[in-house]
Amino acid sequence: MAFEVTILGSGTLVPSSTRRSAGHYVTSGSIHVLMDCGSGTLHGMARWGAAWDRISHILLTHFHTDHVGDLAPLLFALSHGSSPRRTDPLTVVGPPGVHRLMDRLAQAFGAYVLDPGFPLEVLELARDSVWSDESCGLGVSTHPTLHTDSSVAYRLETDAGTVSYTGDTGPQAGLGRFFRGTELMIAECSYPDPPKVETHLTPSGLATLAAEASPDLLVVTHIYPDLDSDAVPDLLAQAGYGGRVRVAEDGLVVSLAGGEAHVR
Ligand SMILES: [Zn+2]
Ligand SMILES: [Zn+2]
Repeated sequence: MAFEVTILGSGTLVPSSTRRSAGHYVTSGSIHVLMDCGSGTLHGMARWGAAWDRISHILLTHFHTDHVGDLAPLLFALSHGSSPRRTDPLTVVGPPGVHRLMDRLAQAFGAYVLDPGFPLEVLELARDSVWSDESCGLGVSTHPTLHTDSSVAYRLETDAGTVSYTGDTGPQAGLGRFFRGTELMIAECSYPDPPKVETHLTPSGLATLAAEASPDLLVVTHIYPDLDSDAVPDLLAQAGYGGRVRVAEDGLVVSLAGGEAHVR
Protein backbone atom coordinates (compact mmCIF):
# COMPACT_ATOMS: atom_id res chain seq x y z
CA MET A 1 0.00 0.00 0.00
CA ALA A 2 1.46 3.37 -0.97
CA PHE A 3 2.33 5.68 1.88
CA GLU A 4 3.04 9.26 0.87
CA VAL A 5 3.69 12.49 2.69
CA THR A 6 3.30 15.87 0.97
CA ILE A 7 4.76 19.00 2.53
CA LEU A 8 2.07 21.62 1.99
CA GLY A 9 3.74 24.36 3.99
CA SER A 10 7.40 24.50 5.01
CA GLY A 11 7.26 28.02 6.40
CA THR A 12 6.13 29.94 9.45
CA LEU A 13 4.00 32.92 10.40
CA VAL A 14 6.21 35.19 8.24
CA PRO A 15 4.65 35.78 4.81
CA SER A 16 6.76 34.15 2.10
CA SER A 17 6.54 33.88 -1.67
CA THR A 18 7.63 30.23 -1.49
CA ARG A 19 6.81 28.82 1.94
CA ARG A 20 3.23 28.52 3.22
CA SER A 21 2.50 28.11 6.95
CA ALA A 22 2.71 24.64 8.49
CA GLY A 23 0.71 21.83 6.86
CA HIS A 24 1.57 18.20 6.05
CA TYR A 25 -0.61 15.69 4.19
CA VAL A 26 -0.15 11.96 4.93
CA THR A 27 -1.98 9.34 2.88
CA SER A 28 -2.05 5.56 2.93
CA GLY A 29 -5.06 3.63 1.59
CA SER A 30 -8.21 5.10 3.13
CA ILE A 31 -6.17 7.24 5.55
CA HIS A 32 -5.90 10.93 4.62
CA VAL A 33 -4.31 12.81 7.50
CA LEU A 34 -3.56 16.49 7.74
CA MET A 35 -0.90 17.33 10.32
CA ASP A 36 -1.43 21.01 11.16
CA CYS A 37 -3.50 23.33 9.01
CA GLY A 38 -1.74 26.70 8.81
CA SER A 39 -2.67 29.42 6.37
CA GLY A 40 -2.07 28.34 2.77
CA THR A 41 -2.69 24.66 3.58
CA LEU A 42 -6.14 24.45 1.97
CA HIS A 43 -5.15 25.94 -1.37
CA GLY A 44 -1.81 24.13 -1.10
CA MET A 45 -3.71 20.83 -1.11
CA ALA A 46 -5.36 21.81 -4.39
CA ARG A 47 -2.03 23.05 -5.76
CA TRP A 48 -0.15 19.84 -4.90
CA GLY A 49 -2.85 17.31 -5.74
CA ALA A 50 -3.74 16.28 -2.19
CA ALA A 51 -7.27 14.93 -1.72
CA TRP A 52 -8.60 17.86 0.35
CA ASP A 53 -12.17 16.58 0.17
CA ARG A 54 -11.17 13.16 1.52
CA ILE A 55 -9.31 14.29 4.66
CA SER A 56 -10.14 11.72 7.36
CA HIS A 57 -8.16 13.09 10.31
CA ILE A 58 -6.75 16.50 11.21
CA LEU A 59 -4.01 16.42 13.85
CA LEU A 60 -3.17 19.75 15.48
CA THR A 61 0.13 20.21 17.33
CA HIS A 62 -0.81 23.52 18.99
CA PHE A 63 -3.02 26.52 18.48
CA HIS A 64 -0.72 29.17 17.02
CA THR A 65 -2.28 30.70 13.93
CA ASP A 66 0.46 29.45 11.59
CA HIS A 67 -0.69 25.90 12.51
CA VAL A 68 -4.49 26.28 12.64
CA GLY A 69 -5.27 29.29 10.41
CA ASP A 70 -6.88 27.24 7.62
CA LEU A 71 -8.93 24.99 9.91
CA ALA A 72 -12.19 26.94 9.58
CA PRO A 73 -11.67 27.50 5.81
CA LEU A 74 -11.10 23.75 5.34
CA LEU A 75 -14.28 22.89 7.28
CA PHE A 76 -16.18 25.51 5.25
CA ALA A 77 -14.89 23.93 2.03
CA LEU A 78 -15.76 20.40 3.21
CA SER A 79 -19.21 21.59 4.28
CA HIS A 80 -20.11 23.52 1.14
CA GLY A 81 -17.51 22.88 -1.55
CA SER A 82 -17.24 19.12 -1.98
CA SER A 83 -19.22 17.45 -4.73
CA PRO A 84 -20.93 15.07 -4.25
CA ARG A 85 -21.75 16.25 -0.76
CA ARG A 86 -19.46 14.70 1.82
CA THR A 87 -20.85 11.96 4.08
CA ASP A 88 -17.60 10.45 5.39
CA PRO A 89 -16.70 11.17 9.03
CA LEU A 90 -13.88 13.49 10.05
CA THR A 91 -11.89 13.37 13.27
CA VAL A 92 -10.13 16.48 14.54
CA VAL A 93 -7.44 15.51 17.07
CA GLY A 94 -5.62 17.99 19.26
CA PRO A 95 -3.98 18.55 22.63
CA PRO A 96 -5.80 20.02 25.65
CA GLY A 97 -7.68 23.10 24.45
CA VAL A 98 -8.87 21.75 21.09
CA HIS A 99 -12.51 21.71 22.22
CA ARG A 100 -12.22 25.36 23.31
CA LEU A 101 -10.62 26.26 19.95
CA MET A 102 -13.40 24.57 17.97
CA ASP A 103 -16.11 26.19 20.12
CA ARG A 104 -14.58 29.63 19.57
CA LEU A 105 -14.20 29.08 15.83
CA ALA A 106 -17.88 28.12 15.71
CA GLN A 107 -18.79 31.30 17.61
CA ALA A 108 -16.74 33.38 15.18
CA PHE A 109 -17.58 31.73 11.87
CA GLY A 110 -20.76 29.73 12.32
CA ALA A 111 -22.30 26.43 13.31
CA TYR A 112 -20.75 24.58 10.34
CA VAL A 113 -17.46 24.38 12.28
CA LEU A 114 -18.98 21.83 14.67
CA ASP A 115 -21.84 20.66 12.43
CA PRO A 116 -20.51 20.61 8.87
CA GLY A 117 -23.20 18.27 7.51
CA PHE A 118 -21.22 15.06 7.99
CA PRO A 119 -20.11 13.29 11.18
CA LEU A 120 -17.43 15.33 12.98
CA GLU A 121 -15.63 14.14 16.10
CA VAL A 122 -13.33 16.40 18.10
CA LEU A 123 -10.89 14.37 20.16
CA GLU A 124 -8.87 16.03 22.89
CA LEU A 125 -5.81 13.92 23.74
CA ALA A 126 -3.55 14.30 26.76
CA ARG A 127 0.02 15.24 25.90
CA ASP A 128 1.33 11.70 26.34
CA SER A 129 -1.43 9.66 24.74
CA VAL A 130 -1.68 6.57 22.59
CA TRP A 131 -4.82 6.38 20.46
CA SER A 132 -5.86 4.37 17.43
CA ASP A 133 -8.64 4.49 14.88
CA GLU A 134 -9.46 0.82 14.40
CA SER A 135 -11.70 1.57 11.41
CA CYS A 136 -8.68 2.40 9.24
CA GLY A 137 -5.64 1.08 11.13
CA LEU A 138 -4.18 4.45 12.09
CA GLY A 139 -2.18 4.69 15.31
CA VAL A 140 -1.50 8.11 16.84
CA SER A 141 0.78 8.89 19.78
CA THR A 142 1.53 12.27 21.37
CA HIS A 143 4.47 13.65 23.34
CA PRO A 144 4.75 17.07 24.99
CA THR A 145 6.98 19.65 23.32
CA LEU A 146 8.76 22.66 24.76
CA HIS A 147 6.80 25.31 22.85
CA THR A 148 3.50 26.13 24.56
CA ASP A 149 1.93 24.71 27.70
CA SER A 150 -0.21 22.35 25.60
CA SER A 151 1.86 21.71 22.44
CA VAL A 152 2.57 18.16 21.28
CA ALA A 153 4.54 16.16 18.74
CA TYR A 154 2.94 13.26 16.88
CA ARG A 155 3.94 9.78 15.88
CA LEU A 156 1.73 8.09 13.24
CA GLU A 157 1.74 4.36 12.62
CA THR A 158 0.08 2.43 9.81
CA ASP A 159 0.69 -0.99 8.29
CA ALA A 160 2.56 0.74 5.47
CA GLY A 161 4.88 3.00 7.44
CA THR A 162 5.60 5.32 10.32
CA VAL A 163 6.08 9.07 10.36
CA SER A 164 6.82 11.51 13.16
CA TYR A 165 6.37 15.28 13.36
CA THR A 166 7.74 17.68 15.94
CA GLY A 167 5.23 20.48 15.48
CA ASP A 168 7.00 23.41 17.14
CA THR A 169 9.41 22.49 19.92
CA GLY A 170 12.56 23.41 21.74
CA PRO A 171 15.13 20.84 22.86
CA GLN A 172 12.60 18.59 24.61
CA ALA A 173 13.88 15.70 26.74
CA GLY A 174 12.57 12.31 25.65
CA LEU A 175 11.42 13.42 22.19
CA GLY A 176 14.19 11.57 20.34
CA ARG A 177 13.25 8.35 22.11
CA PHE A 178 9.57 8.93 21.27
CA PHE A 179 10.47 9.28 17.57
CA ARG A 180 12.81 6.26 17.45
CA GLY A 181 12.06 3.77 14.67
CA THR A 182 10.07 6.14 12.46
CA GLU A 183 11.06 5.98 8.80
CA LEU A 184 10.33 9.64 8.18
CA MET A 185 10.85 12.39 10.75
CA ILE A 186 9.50 15.84 9.90
CA ALA A 187 11.14 18.35 12.19
CA GLU A 188 11.03 22.07 12.66
CA CYS A 189 14.22 24.12 12.45
CA SER A 190 13.25 27.73 12.91
CA TYR A 191 16.38 29.78 13.53
CA PRO A 192 20.16 29.77 13.13
CA ASP A 193 22.47 29.01 16.05
CA PRO A 194 23.13 30.04 18.71
CA PRO A 195 19.62 29.48 20.12
CA LYS A 196 17.94 32.70 21.30
CA VAL A 197 14.79 31.01 22.62
CA GLU A 198 14.04 27.63 24.18
CA THR A 199 10.76 27.27 22.31
CA HIS A 200 12.11 26.53 18.82
CA LEU A 201 14.89 24.40 17.36
CA THR A 202 18.12 25.49 15.71
CA PRO A 203 20.40 23.16 13.69
CA SER A 204 22.44 22.16 16.78
CA GLY A 205 19.34 21.19 18.77
CA LEU A 206 17.82 19.41 15.81
CA ALA A 207 21.06 17.44 15.25
CA THR A 208 20.90 16.13 18.82
CA LEU A 209 17.21 15.22 18.47
CA ALA A 210 17.65 13.54 15.07
CA ALA A 211 20.70 11.56 16.20
CA GLU A 212 18.65 10.10 19.05
CA ALA A 213 15.63 9.44 16.82
CA SER A 214 17.70 7.98 13.96
CA PRO A 215 15.05 8.10 11.21
CA ASP A 216 15.66 6.78 7.72
CA LEU A 217 15.07 10.32 6.43
CA LEU A 218 14.90 13.67 8.23
CA VAL A 219 12.84 16.37 6.50
CA VAL A 220 13.50 19.85 7.88
CA THR A 221 10.60 22.30 7.89
CA HIS A 222 9.19 25.45 9.63
CA ILE A 223 12.03 27.60 8.33
CA TYR A 224 12.16 31.28 9.24
CA PRO A 225 13.76 33.70 6.75
CA ASP A 226 16.75 34.23 9.09
CA LEU A 227 17.86 30.63 8.59
CA ASP A 228 19.86 29.86 5.42
CA SER A 229 17.94 26.72 4.40
CA ASP A 230 20.58 25.64 1.88
CA ALA A 231 23.15 25.48 4.67
CA VAL A 232 21.04 23.32 7.01
CA PRO A 233 22.35 19.87 5.88
CA ASP A 234 25.98 20.98 6.45
CA LEU A 235 25.08 22.64 9.76
CA LEU A 236 23.41 19.41 10.94
CA ALA A 237 26.46 17.39 9.89
CA GLN A 238 28.80 19.80 11.68
CA ALA A 239 26.64 19.42 14.78
CA GLY A 240 27.07 15.64 14.65
CA TYR A 241 24.07 14.31 12.73
CA GLY A 242 25.15 11.78 10.08
CA GLY A 243 21.78 10.64 8.72
CA ARG A 244 19.97 11.47 5.47
CA VAL A 245 18.54 15.00 5.40
CA ARG A 246 16.24 16.84 3.04
CA VAL A 247 15.23 20.47 3.52
CA ALA A 248 11.52 20.76 2.77
CA GLU A 249 10.04 22.89 0.07
CA ASP A 250 6.31 23.28 -0.49
CA GLY A 251 5.10 20.42 -2.68
CA LEU A 252 7.84 17.98 -1.64
CA VAL A 253 6.52 14.39 -1.70
CA VAL A 254 8.16 11.59 0.28
CA SER A 255 7.18 7.95 -0.29
CA LEU A 256 7.62 5.25 2.36
CA ALA A 257 8.10 1.62 1.38
CA GLY A 258 9.85 -1.33 2.99
CA GLY A 259 11.06 0.72 5.94
CA GLU A 260 12.71 3.34 3.73
CA ALA A 261 11.73 6.89 2.82
CA HIS A 262 12.38 8.27 -0.65
CA VAL A 263 11.87 11.75 -2.07
CA ARG A 264 9.74 11.40 -5.17
ZN1 LIG B 1 4.90 27.65 14.10
ZN1 LIG C 1 4.01 27.79 17.37
